[in-house]
Amino acid sequence: GSTIGIIGGGQLARMLALAAARLGFKTVVLEPQQDCPASQVTNTHIQAAYDDADGLARLAEMSDVVTYEFENIDVAAVEALAKNIAVYPAARALRISQDRLVEKEFLQQSGLKTAPYRDIENADALETALLEFGGRGILKTRRFGYDGKGQIRFSGEKNDLSAAQAIEDFKGAPAILEGFVDFTCEISVIASRGRDGSVMCFEPAENIHKNGILFSSTVPASVSQATKNEAIGEATRLINALDYVGTLGLEFFVMADGSLIANEFAPRVHNSGHWTEAACSVSQFEQHIRCCIGWPLTKQHRHSDCVMENLLGNDIEKLITLANESNVVLHNYGKVEAREGRKMGHFTRLLTHK
Ligand code: ATP
Ligand code: MG
Ligand code: MG
Repeated sequence: GSTIGIIGGGQLARMLALAAARLGFKTVVLEPQQDCPASQVTNTHIQAAYDDADGLARLAEMSDVVTYEFENIDVAAVEALAKNIAVYPAARALRISQDRLVEKEFLQQSGLKTAPYRDIENADALETALLEFGGRGILKTRRFGYDGKGQIRFSGEKNDLSAAQAIEDFKGAPAILEGFVDFTCEISVIASRGRDGSVMCFEPAENIHKNGILFSSTVPASVSQATKNEAIGEATRLINALDYVGTLGLEFFVMADGSLIANEFAPRVHNSGHWTEAACSVSQFEQHIRCCIGWPLTKQHRHSDCVMENLLGNDIEKLITLANESNVVLHNYGKVEAREGRKMGHFTRLLTHK
């Protein structure tokens, strides 16, 4: 048997560990927090910081291959680890996705269209860029942003923050300004690439965000077949350009004419792919485990249309009500504290059986 090491012990690690267990593999999780979601389902929990040298050495010793569940881990630590053990995806994808400026440049180099963007170093640069973009845009920290955190929106109206105030609020964090994209909807593609270079994509999900946080993912997406094919083609181009091994999520804005603008990618399993555990023969989590282990990636059969919804904070209490419904697949991450806005669980409602 093989043992898979996972850096990070949140819900994504938990679901990866469950998928690994089903295939008969063991997991070791490196995570400083004691009661983390993965701790309940992994074989071994190494309680140490993600960049702790001893913790990483133990992880490498116990594992046959190492992966990670989130993108904000130290690239140098991953590179050092990769000298002793196979790490998938390789540090390069991590480095690119950690910095929105580098990421946007890479997406464009790979032939994907992005929103217009400018590197913002000070209030003057922000003012100039806002004028260029017609007053509308989103200032985003280059690093460490998620769930819409580290973003300031400019609508071109009077109640916008001044450029000087926005820069002050960012407290010196490197930032970019993105032009505001008037999209008709958002979709994402979950793509996997095996160690042999074979690529498998799930069909796009249509995503609704509330307050910058993913609220729901619906499959099929309400876009044309041409747009779906284009999204899958672009995800395939990106994953090949990254020479990636594992599963990633690529987010798009869909324009009125059906054309696509790439927003960002995450070098890991993705919240907008949670529906795959309920509506497909093989989930994004199993697909990622298969990639890490060097197993085949097969074409996945989706047996149902579906809607996945996140349960944030106290919404997790709805789980017991949902348990009364048929055709609803439940998932509770087992988090100890239901803080407001925190992702506590999700459910997928199966709409039709094909
Ligand atoms: P995630 O949790 O997906 O990693 P994040 O904090 O990295 O989120 P983004 O994905 O960049 O944030 O933005 C969150 C949401 O804000 C997007 O899904 C989209 O709805 C909206 N948004 C982001 N950038 C733009 C843009 N340039 N124009 C219009 N809307 C945008
Ligand atoms: Mg993001
Ligand atoms: Mg996003």
